[in-house]
Amino acid sequence: MIKIKTREEIELMRESALVVSKTLGMLAGEVKPGVTTLYLDKLAEDFIRAEGAIPGFLGLYDFPNTLCMSPNAQVVHGIPNDKPLIEGDIISIDCGALKNGFYGDHAYTFEVGVVAPEVKKLLDVTKQSLYEGIRQFRAGNRVEDVGFAIQNYCEKYGYGVVRELVGHGLGKTMHEDPEMPNYGRRGRGKKFVEGMVVAIEPMINLGTHQINQLKDGWTILTRDGKPSAHFEHDVAIVNGKPELLSTFKYVYDALGIVSTEEDEFRQNL
Ligand code: MG
Ligand code: MG
Repeated sequence: MIKIKTREEIELMRESALVVSKTLGMLAGEVKPGVTTLYLDKLAEDFIRAEGAIPGFLGLYDFPNTLCMSPNAQVVHGIPNDKPLIEGDIISIDCGALKNGFYGDHAYTFEVGVVAPEVKKLLDVTKQSLYEGIRQFRAGNRVEDVGFAIQNYCEKYGYGVVRELVGHGLGKTMHEDPEMPNYGRRGRGKKFVEGMVVAIEPMINLGTHQINQLKDGWTILTRDGKPSAHFEHDVAIVNGKPELLSTFKYVYDALGIVSTEEDEFRQNL
């Protein structure tokens, strides 16, 4: 059952999303060669608690850490460890936070030093596909309109769209209805209405869309060992249109990147 949020609840959810946005911004300044994902995980946990929130993933379905850290061929759900990042890696950092009874859930794939041009392209296209998908999250459209937009955009580049893992409704629980696949056909699935809040999160592979799961029961990785990218925003339907609750602004500020992508997104709704 889809749980519709009031305007007041959406404002609370914006706070939860912003805790995660700020956490990713803090981490942006720390991601570099030689740093371990376990160290970053501890930084994130302390940061979230200092913001008056609770790490959203820690203990959720028995996940052992604050962050899902998925480098290179790992798609999502990687477990932080003591292996240092190296120059040229990419690392998807997915973070959840619980504040005022609502979850934020938001992810960015970072470059460690300088990455190969084809990998950089994968990151750029995946992030752009996120906005292409979000644009379809509006009253009257349907679930697969979002997935179609993401799939159509990414497959033009020959990339693999992961099927087994999907975005989701978000609220007082981390995963609510509806499931939000990153593939689909136009005009199919549940209809979007005012007050829905979802996490949209394309997981896009440089090669095949096929995946494997490690024996740790968590880590998802590409079957061909090629890199995978992942970006995620929390979005509400307000006045019939998609409204971003999370923002990459803190990441860009930390990295000294001038980006107009979120402004452009809002201007072209
Ligand atoms: Mg997430
Ligand atoms: Mg999510």
